[in-house]
Amino acid sequence: MRYIISLLLFLSLGLSLLGQDTSLTKKQQPLPVNGADSINASLVNADIDTLIKPDTISIAGVGDMMLGTSFPSTKYLPPNDGRNLLDAVTALLNNATLAFGNLEGCFLDAGEPSKKCKDSTKCYVFRMPERYAPYFKEAGFDMLSLANNHAGDFGNPARTTTIALLDSLGIHHAGQTIRPYTTFEKGGLKYGFVAFSPNSYTLQITDLEYAESIVHELDSICDVVIVSFHGGAEGIDHQHVTRETETFYGENRGNVYEFSHRMIDAGADVIFGHGPHLLRATELYKDRFICYSLGNFATYARFSLSSPKHLAPIVEVFTKPDGTFLYAKVHNFVQHGEGGPKADDKSQSYTQLKKLTESDFPETNLQFTGNNLILRKP
Ligand SMILES: [Zn+2]
Repeated sequence: MRYIISLLLFLSLGLSLLGQDTSLTKKQQPLPVNGADSINASLVNADIDTLIKPDTISIAGVGDMMLGTSFPSTKYLPPNDGRNLLDAVTALLNNATLAFGNLEGCFLDAGEPSKKCKDSTKCYVFRMPERYAPYFKEAGFDMLSLANNHAGDFGNPARTTTIALLDSLGIHHAGQTIRPYTTFEKGGLKYGFVAFSPNSYTLQITDLEYAESIVHELDSICDVVIVSFHGGAEGIDHQHVTRETETFYGENRGNVYEFSHRMIDAGADVIFGHGPHLLRATELYKDRFICYSLGNFATYARFSLSSPKHLAPIVEVFTKPDGTFLYAKVHNFVQHGEGGPKADDKSQSYTQLKKLTESDFPETNLQFTGNNLILRKP
């Protein structure tokens, strides 16, 4: 009896709490009975959480991460030796089925840069202390991209050290030509992960036929294929997806629109882009979700974090077990000062992703609803 009374109290408390969210719930249509398949833009947060099926998976993606560099000076290392830099995002990342990010640097304790710098203070090469590698594991990262313009900053010793450290921690990585892609199992599903960039010793974003062949192969042996790219021109003048080849500093940075579509045609399920250091639009293509740029996420010192480069969202993509898009949730974070993601109650990332998506892909079948949801249009 006591149990029943407690249960009733619990239920009435729960209902009254739900009742507080009246501003949006009152406008909703009745909940669909057949669950997540019927999710549409009339639903909001609280209801979507109740509709997640046991087999729904969530893949959280973030952009560039460099937790501090000991080169050219240890003054570029964060307080408390970086132990707290990812504290604000650890619970969220661990809660996702999988978490992805771009490792914009390498792990190495000593060694010289692979390119010569006339003035080391103006030389942007990054060498994270090797003892920082476990921070990514503790924060919840399952997959890191090593295809970018900083993975090779300290040459082969750094590449092999970084790969060995990630292997020892059980963090899956991709993008280096010596270890181009990976497959792994989690929760009964098989995942494939591959990463591309325009940079040396990485899988080339411009070699579409080769990229397609890898994705096609991964698709034939995996349930879900995740593709990362570090591509497109950088900065505020290049925030829009042009659907053309982008050149920056004389370098072909790829046609990220064509690349993403062709990877999905070849079997990719989720595409996480980064590289421009700020946010770009999202798109739904053949029921697969594309983030064209996730911006900076955890970049300590040496990075410009002036607006809008300070926006550091976690975009959590919810899919069926075959990678079909259900919906996405934007968790809003910003970086201030020297950097490190902190919660943003102004939802700036979400607002910007909405604006960019509506501007660059007005035809796409996505709708931004509530204060952090991206849904399929009804
Ligand atoms: Zn970069």
